[in-house]
Amino acid sequence: MNHNHITIRNDEIKSLFDRQLRDWKLACDNYAALDNVKIKDLNIGNARFKVQFNPARIISSAAKVDAKSIKERKCFLCSGNRPVEQEGLPWGDNYIILLNPYPIFPRHLTVPSLKHEPQRIKGRMADMMRLAAYLDDFIVFYNGPRCGASAPDHIHFQAGNKGFMTYDQDLAQSGSLKEVTNATGATLYLADGLARTAFVIYATSVEAGAGMFDRLYDALPMPDGEEEPMLNILCWVEGGEWRIAVFPRLKHRPACYFAEGDDNILITPASVDMGGVFITPLEKDFDKVTAGNIKNILDEVCISEAAANEIAKRIK
Ligand SMILES: [Zn+2]
Repeated sequence: MNHNHITIRNDEIKSLFDRQLRDWKLACDNYAALDNVKIKDLNIGNARFKVQFNPARIISSAAKVDAKSIKERKCFLCSGNRPVEQEGLPWGDNYIILLNPYPIFPRHLTVPSLKHEPQRIKGRMADMMRLAAYLDDFIVFYNGPRCGASAPDHIHFQAGNKGFMTYDQDLAQSGSLKEVTNATGATLYLADGLARTAFVIYATSVEAGAGMFDRLYDALPMPDGEEEPMLNILCWVEGGEWRIAVFPRLKHRPACYFAEGDDNILITPASVDMGGVFITPLEKDFDKVTAGNIKNILDEVCISEAAANEIAKRIK
């Protein structure tokens, strides 16, 4: 794929990319390298998946995100520690839009809060939805602090250009949606049939969508000792409406991540993987990974349909 052929209609974002890819060599090199990453397509029923061999992502996939390691490193999302070449576009009162210099997408943004505060979604869904409306060429995503966030100590969203992940299109074409509940301006569905269980909110206003998300959030299981249910979230605007896909998680890393020898596959699923693009930083994994492996990983790290039905019953 040629990263120069992505159309960004938002002029402020387009010129941010133009300037940064001209002036920041690391970013320029890493985006150019995306043209050469290998991608293969795998299908599980109606669900389409891509596997991307992306060696630069080893930094993220193998990142140490335990409390001690996080405490001992400088936070790369705080303004004082960011690369000098990294320019920011202030957005709203509390956020800044940055180019992600280690991209998965041909256009990949990171949107941290201006304040160093823990990665928590509670109370921020309205922000996420407004960001998705501003970045309407993008799918905005959120990784829970134990579900792929590489800065669990600094609240941030990310965004990748539309047309890359597959979940939004698969949902529109073949997602089987079962209505869980509705309110004025928002409907909550359980979506299955796409190889992983998700809750999806269709909303016509920020207030209604965020309100429905809060009801779902309160019904999700909170693991012992955690401050947030394990989850990944995708949010985008389509046909003037918001779509919020919430993937409750059972596990961060699948057993194959820890396996020895031939059984080892270095995959750490997060929002992008839930969205249909699995990242393998190692070529051996890219070559061998099958649709069966992807299915096993999804079954292991996502909740079952039965568990989702139990959550649906608890929604008030
Ligand atoms: Zn920070």
